[in-house]
Amino acid sequence: MDFYFTEEQRLIQDTYRKFREKELTPQYVRWIDENCDYLPEDMLQKLAELGTMGITIPREYGGLGLGMTEFCIITEELSTANPAVAMCALIGLSFGATPIMGIGNQEQKRKHLPRIAEGKEKWALCMTEPGGGTDILGAITTSAAKDADSYVVNGTKMWITGAHKADYLMTLVITDKTVDRKKGLSALIIDAKSEGITIRPIRKLGIHGCGVNEVHFEDVRVPAENLLGEENRGWYQLLGTLNPERISTSLFSLGIARAAFNYALQYSKERRAFGKTIGSFQILQHYLADIAIEIENARNLIYKCAWLCDTGQKYDVEVAMAKIVACRASELAALHGMEILGGYGFAMEYDMQRYFRDYKQMKFSPISDEMARNYIAEVGFGLPRSF
Ligand SMILES: Cc1cc2nc3c(=O)[nH]c(=O)nc-3n(C[C@H](O)[C@H](O)[C@H](O)COP(=O)(O)OP(=O)(O)OC[C@H]3O[C@@H](n4cnc5c(N)ncnc54)[C@H](O)[C@@H]3O)c2cc1C
Repeated sequence: MDFYFTEEQRLIQDTYRKFREKELTPQYVRWIDENCDYLPEDMLQKLAELGTMGITIPREYGGLGLGMTEFCIITEELSTANPAVAMCALIGLSFGATPIMGIGNQEQKRKHLPRIAEGKEKWALCMTEPGGGTDILGAITTSAAKDADSYVVNGTKMWITGAHKADYLMTLVITDKTVDRKKGLSALIIDAKSEGITIRPIRKLGIHGCGVNEVHFEDVRVPAENLLGEENRGWYQLLGTLNPERISTSLFSLGIARAAFNYALQYSKERRAFGKTIGSFQILQHYLADIAIEIENARNLIYKCAWLCDTGQKYDVEVAMAKIVACRASELAALHGMEILGGYGFAMEYDMQRYFRDYKQMKFSPISDEMARNYIAEVGFGLPRSF
């Protein structure tokens, strides 16, 4: 057993740490949070030049051809600056390239992978509907009717991250209404500029730098060749490609936790009360120790998932655990962090309030902690489904 990164991995970590310190400064991140609903184009381009958008895309398609461990190293560094940075930089890889690499045909790979790797194509994933995100099978109504060599899509998707900037929407639709829902769904690659698509931004509490939207499809024509994978196998095939997304989500939480911890630790060394720094009071030391324990737990579990993934093993149950543990780390870091900062935790000009707002998003997206626990019990221990 070896907990060390390889020389190459250390180099990657060092490169992104330096990038974070130089480019993604606290002032810049604050500015994004207050002014942007997506990472500005010049920053996306800088990240693309490092190869960020194509970390796990094979070299033959213009990517770096690296594994999940390297993906984690990079995402951890970016998320520690701000999860919105990591989300905007990696959304094409997660929601476009990964499904295409998993179930796409040669033409789709040739068309999209090089452009995603170059940072020239943005993507969003359209699964959740207004009727529900946890029970997608029960809530989905968006349908695609076959008409000659096209599908005609009608319906509404909710909470779609990055749709307002996306070039393509990876969209789950009903293609056969007559069968059991799981067996009648398909994944379509929809050009976001198609006629009949309306996108409405939704204001939200945290992670302002990566906006979400309602996406409405009205008689949107999609060429039949934009079907991803097999018709009516979309539920199994698309979901099968989304486990890495849960690793990403865990890393977003880990980044928030690390940033909040560092901020609180620094503050505790500077702020004084009763003639001492507040970091000399035992209860605050325990707060910090508790956060550090959760961060260490989360990190170990996330990198174990990466190792399982890189060695071709299953990690679906472990990654559901990682999602919960990392969320807990970010929650504890934000809550204790607020306490350590006292009144200043509540001030908008201090960053702690942002960690407090940002961690909340990770609790229920892309899967809620409750559903992650359900999954662990059902798939991990073979217990009967409770719902
Ligand atoms: C900021 C943000 C970004 C998002 N980005 C995307 C995106 O890019 N693409 C996309 O498709 N979706 C996206 N989502 C949707 C997200 O995946 C859903 O919000 C999430 O799945 C929960 O669905 P819901 O909000 O409809 O809650 P509901 O399904 O209504 O659930 C409400 C509550 O009930 C609980 N619950 C439901 N069923 C059970 C059960 N059986 N057992 C125990 N508890 C249960 C849930 O855990 C939750 O606490 C995003 C959401 C947000 C808020």
